[in-house]
Amino acid sequence: MTDCLFCKIVAREIPADIVLETERALAFRDVNPQAPTHVLVVPKSHHANAAALAQADDGLADDVLKACHDVALQEGVSESGYRVVFNTGVGAGQTVFHVHAHVLGGRGLTWPPG
Ligand code: 5GP
Ligand code: ZN
Repeated sequence: MTDCLFCKIVAREIPADIVLETERALAFRDVNPQAPTHVLVVPKSHHANAAALAQADDGLADDVLKACHDVALQEGVSESGYRVVFNTGVGAGQTVFHVHAHVLGGRGLTWPPG
């Protein structure tokens, strides 16, 4: 998609601090981190939100989820605990409409998130 921020990061048209890349997923640090570890994991192909990703019937959602866990391992937060969040829809705070998982860790995380 030409006018999508995260497609542009995938295409290396906009710089990002990339921490992990797989065949179908890319992980990069959030520009406005909310925790010591705050990484965004996206499929390289454009899907608007988690609902659309869930309907991609080729295992893409699995690849994204596995990349999230690999990021947590790489960041050293898999033992202490981490959170994977898909804000889905404007009402849930989604602002970029290329599906992305937030991987958050490295500090205590309260629940419910608010
Ligand atoms: P959302 O609100 O859609 O769940 O999350 C979007 C996230 O993208 C926000 O946490 C925001 O800080 C991050 N973000 C917005 N623009 C950029 C950017 O240009 N680069 C990076 N790395 N993160 C961005
Ligand atoms: Zn996109």
